[in-house]
Amino acid sequence: MEIRQKVEQLSQRMHDSPCYPTQGSVLFVDLEHRTFFTRYLPPSVLHTFLTGRGANMYLLYNLLIDGMAPLDPQIPLIFGSGALTGTVPTASRGNVSSISPDSSAILDSNCGDAFPTFMKFHGYDHLVLYGQSPEWTLLQISGDKVLFHDATPYLGMDNGEVTSAVERDFSCSERRDMAMARITSAGENLVLSSGIMGGPKAIYARGGAGAKMGSLKLKGVIILGRCDAPKLSVKFKENNRNIAQRILSTSVIKNALKTVGTPFLYKPSRLLGAMGAKNNQETGWSDSLDADKFDRYRPGMDGCLKCPVRCRPLNDLSLGEKGVLYDRYDSGDGPEYVTLQKMGPMIGLSEPEQVLRLNNILNDLGLDSASTGSAISWAMELYQRGIIGISVTGGLDLTWGNYPVIEKLLFMTARREGFGDVIADSARAVELGKYPKEALKYRMAVKGLFQSDPHDSRILKGFALGLAVATRGMDHLRNRPTLEINAKINDDPVFKAGLYGGCVAPEPNSYDGKEYAVRACENIFAVGDAVGMCRFSTKLFNSASTSGYEDFAAQLAELTEEEFTPEQLYEIGHNITGVERLINARLHLTEEDDTLPDRWFEEEITVGPFKGEKIDREQFAALKSRYYKISGLNAAGVPALAWHKSLADVITGFAVTVTLPVGFAGAPEGAVIIDQPVSNVKELREALDVSLWRAAGQLKDSSLVVAVNGEIVLSNEKDAAIKNGDELAVFPLLGGG
Ligand code: SF4
Repeated sequence: MEIRQKVEQLSQRMHDSPCYPTQGSVLFVDLEHRTFFTRYLPPSVLHTFLTGRGANMYLLYNLLIDGMAPLDPQIPLIFGSGALTGTVPTASRGNVSSISPDSSAILDSNCGDAFPTFMKFHGYDHLVLYGQSPEWTLLQISGDKVLFHDATPYLGMDNGEVTSAVERDFSCSERRDMAMARITSAGENLVLSSGIMGGPKAIYARGGAGAKMGSLKLKGVIILGRCDAPKLSVKFKENNRNIAQRILSTSVIKNALKTVGTPFLYKPSRLLGAMGAKNNQETGWSDSLDADKFDRYRPGMDGCLKCPVRCRPLNDLSLGEKGVLYDRYDSGDGPEYVTLQKMGPMIGLSEPEQVLRLNNILNDLGLDSASTGSAISWAMELYQRGIIGISVTGGLDLTWGNYPVIEKLLFMTARREGFGDVIADSARAVELGKYPKEALKYRMAVKGLFQSDPHDSRILKGFALGLAVATRGMDHLRNRPTLEINAKINDDPVFKAGLYGGCVAPEPNSYDGKEYAVRACENIFAVGDAVGMCRFSTKLFNSASTSGYEDFAAQLAELTEEEFTPEQLYEIGHNITGVERLINARLHLTEEDDTLPDRWFEEEITVGPFKGEKIDREQFAALKSRYYKISGLNAAGVPALAWHKSLADVITGFAVTVTLPVGFAGAPEGAVIIDQPVSNVKELREALDVSLWRAAGQLKDSSLVVAVNGEIVLSNEKDAAIKNGDELAVFPLLGGG
């Protein structure tokens, strides 16, 4: 089935008008045929997945074509804004989802600045983009108006240049009366670590969203015109004041995020001996990159649209000793803690000025600093070990800390020039034949996605579990229990157990109970993304007192006039990660992919108070299995049968349970749910081949027959009807005698 049929089938299950107040529509855009239409999601989606990341996954599950490569234009790119985006303090965020060209998992990336709010206020909860434009296109949305502009004049332009050109050509100004999600030359060149820029620094970074947008020949989406908030009730505004007050009085926000931004995290990681350096061969680094070393270069702070925190440090190198600007990369926005480490210790640099320039270059080139920095550090380790030499690097000397080469390599990567073409293939360089297989041993990635977090997690076992089980790959923003390094909370076991819903050992390096911390974070972070809340002000990420389920439930009820309880929201968070796992299973990820890089199991930390720490394979396996159990996952790492069935009832509206012979690979419960509609036994067999790909050999057994509600089908399988809710069984029936 091709994408247009899938879109057609899905749209028949949607509504022509809003189902609740403030609901935005889903705009389906066929870029190849330059057509579009809108529909509204049913309320059951709101109550199962909310909006933003949650409903993005609902759409993706329905529109995904099994077996198709991520960059095929029939794989959709889906933008989503949260139900609270733009109306609650710090809820400036939205997600983009697809399947990832940069990893083996889902693509799901969050961004702030102005685009998600403009989308919501122009009446759209989701944009579903598919098909390849015949010519490069700039899509314009202004309320009901959707226009397809020729983007050829903008080709080759990077972030700053394309923004100025669009502002000039459309007589508008970003944030004031225009918001834009755009790709740079890196996205045009299908660089796997390229993101979609949503502002001077804001980026849908992870998973190769830029390459995915490039595969559609879509240079940008502009939302043009005023961006007015809906009318808000007195109660809603009162709640907002309370939320803002709590966020702004939280010490980490007041004293660190608002003043220096996320680089404040560099020092604690360094002091713990957990600062990933030189591709995690080392975990200690110089204090020359502590946040205060950037003070002189920070002219002020900026933030996402209407955010009262404003956590983004600006930079200006002309404020330093040399006092002059050489080019446009000497000032900019950032860095975040992630960029600081990836462009610092990870590649052997320790000068703040060098980190700032690289940060500014990355922002302009639209590259995900986490994946790009990790790809370079991986290459540097391979070079150090002699696994690759100058014949592979095209003469580039990849010695640690070789600044001129690193700066040059970023530009080469965006253009896919020389060795830049290898870095552009990111974590897939072995699969694409650029490195020998032995290189995989040194790749710091999970599910094919390089680690986002600077923090080497051999010490903190909760962090390590989170990175292993995160649905988009090795990324801390999905579930990191940051409060594991909060001594006050660790010393209050009753409070800690209440926070996480189970006993969690106070020692950061213990394995005991860490499954509860990860589970609790995973759920609330998913809900935060689904309503549009910034992670920094979502409970459990930086603080135990920032906005949580109670706040979200109250504001959702005010806006939508639908009832929500904190308990329901907890379940919704769980559902979101559940559907993400089901999508990953369709991408052939298994329980074996919920793991960590070999280095963390095999090599010990050599510095700091936790010297000697590594991950014990057995204890980690037990921890993972406890996490599966409390998460309702079966041993294959997907939602267990009853949960899968209830998710399918909402997602596809179809679910049949198929009982299998003992020992079928990929079906540890002895049965599976088939959730793609099938109408007869012949189609069921085809669906089983797709779903049970791990049991391909077992399914070939010609003695297997199917029973439908207890009745064996011995002939005419294509006439043996199956309907939603049927109980099916597959078992061997041996003839003869
Ligand atoms: S806290 Fe920072 S990242 Fe979050 S919404 Fe505000 S400015 Fe954006």
